[in-house]
Amino acid sequence: MIKKIVGAALLFVLCAAALFAADRLYCKWCGSSNFANVRQLASSACSRSPTGKHEPYAGAPRRFYVCTYCATESASFEQLVLSPCSKSPRRYHDAYEGAEKAAYACRHCGFESRSFRQLVVSPCGKSPRGYHDAL
Ligand SMILES: [Zn+2]
Ligand SMILES: [Zn+2]
Ligand SMILES: [Zn+2]
Repeated sequence: MIKKIVGAALLFVLCAAALFAADRLYCKWCGSSNFANVRQLASSACSRSPTGKHEPYAGAPRRFYVCTYCATESASFEQLVLSPCSKSPRRYHDAYEGAEKAAYACRHCGFESRSFRQLVVSPCGKSPRGYHDAL
């Protein structure tokens, strides 16, 4: 009986570890992904982060990561956030953390578009940066 319970617990731990490994952790500023857990990520120094420490990308894993400001896509998270962007306030692409949706809405004025690219490159009278920002 006890053996069975230990076996089930061990199986659970192994499954949890496998699931965790599939969910890669990225720093949203430098694209590094060599972290065992969020604590290790958040406590180590990052030369590109405004806080001086790595900060986790909060979005889901995607086939293509997309820039919040210009809609440039890249299959490599690291390559996206390390490449220059003329529309980003920090001059590098920022990975969009929202989910892939059938339609995207502007967080400032509510304008909707089925195209993420069309939304973020179109002028917006209510946005501080002058363009719609996708929710
Ligand atoms: Zn970093
Ligand atoms: Zn960009
Ligand atoms: Zn807008």
